[in-house]
Amino acid sequence: MDTAVRIASRFPEMGTTIFTVMSRLAAECGAVNLSQGFPDFQAEPALFDAMHRHMLAGRNQYAPMAGLPELRQAIVDKVADLYGPRFDVESEVTVTAGATQAIFTAIAAFVRPGDEVIVFEPVYDSYVPAIETVGGRAVFAQLRFPDYAPDWAQVASLISPRTRMIIVNSPHNPTGSLLSAIDLEKLAKLVRGTDIVILSDEVYEHTVFDGVPHASLCGHAELAARSLVVSSFGKTYHITGWKIGYVVGPAALMAEFRKVHQFNVFTVHAPSQLAIADYMQSPERHQSLAGFYQEKRDFFRSLMAATPFELLPCRGTYFQLARYAGLSDLPDTAFAEWLTRDVGVAVIPVSVFYANGQDDRVVRFCFAKREETLRAATERLSKAFVKSG
Ligand code: PMP
Ligand code: GLN
Repeated sequence: MDTAVRIASRFPEMGTTIFTVMSRLAAECGAVNLSQGFPDFQAEPALFDAMHRHMLAGRNQYAPMAGLPELRQAIVDKVADLYGPRFDVESEVTVTAGATQAIFTAIAAFVRPGDEVIVFEPVYDSYVPAIETVGGRAVFAQLRFPDYAPDWAQVASLISPRTRMIIVNSPHNPTGSLLSAIDLEKLAKLVRGTDIVILSDEVYEHTVFDGVPHASLCGHAELAARSLVVSSFGKTYHITGWKIGYVVGPAALMAEFRKVHQFNVFTVHAPSQLAIADYMQSPERHQSLAGFYQEKRDFFRSLMAATPFELLPCRGTYFQLARYAGLSDLPDTAFAEWLTRDVGVAVIPVSVFYANGQDDRVVRFCFAKREETLRAATERLSKAFVKSG
């Protein structure tokens, strides 16, 4: 249909998220889709049974704005158990429509036009558009290739009187790197005495490998006092399509967060909240996630060893980065498209997570997949690239 209005786009430069682009291309080409991050296996029936039960019991009307008390209590208990602090159920936890909404809402609640927000590149793709939508300016710190460690001296040099927020993400998407307790100490030192709010994206909090504990900002008393910490049940319980997550933080920050949340989302799908609250009563479900995905990581890496891709370390998340510099001269976006169309394996090019398109010839594989899917993908890769030597 033709439109009757002339549109001066508010976002003339904004394209379509890479996750949509690559999943669509994968479907078009019949490629094995290791691009967008989602499991290709089912969650446990117990979760679906619980949802059904709550729907039949009539729990189908609006939940309270901040989330149902059953779920808020379960979140507070989990956070206390894992990281120490006990957030107040009434005033310090809010259930959100996934982590993306929590992140957008937190940015909208704190960032004024002209404010600066420090983010780390490669940067998860929703942060910068959210910052710019509310009139803020993203300031880019670098995670240094190839180990993707933060450079705190650089961060110090980027802090200005306009810095309103710093966004951290550990375990880190797309790189699989982690912040350590020492990193948190350095961050705490940098922001001490300032009014900088920290937004900590910890959606992969339960997917940290090799026995390393997750360094949550919840567990660092000084940082927790100025942080909103976000997580996502999509990642934890294999239900990315449910779009449900949460944010915890000090009451004063949460009050500001809720000012935006109440008029943006108001409240989240009630039966899912109840089902997840029931499901959370068995902590081994989140406690076993790291082991579950570590097996998948190791399985995928062992299969990839038969290809000439150079695997980078993967310390958390369900993403594996690989260099292909020895295989092709194509830029990573062209390489990812070629791999999808001609080899039949869809991946994410990492340059899209850099404002300047920095291209280290690295692509991201998602290994949250059944063994047969990972096998099918690596068989195609092995056929396409015969390993020499
Ligand atoms: N942050 C990161 C780092 C992610 O990887 C994702 C999704 N994969 C999100 C946020 C968004 O999570 P949700 O699907 O709950 O919105
Ligand atoms: N976070 C997921 C990923 O990194 C995708 C989420 C999305 O499609 N927006 O692949």
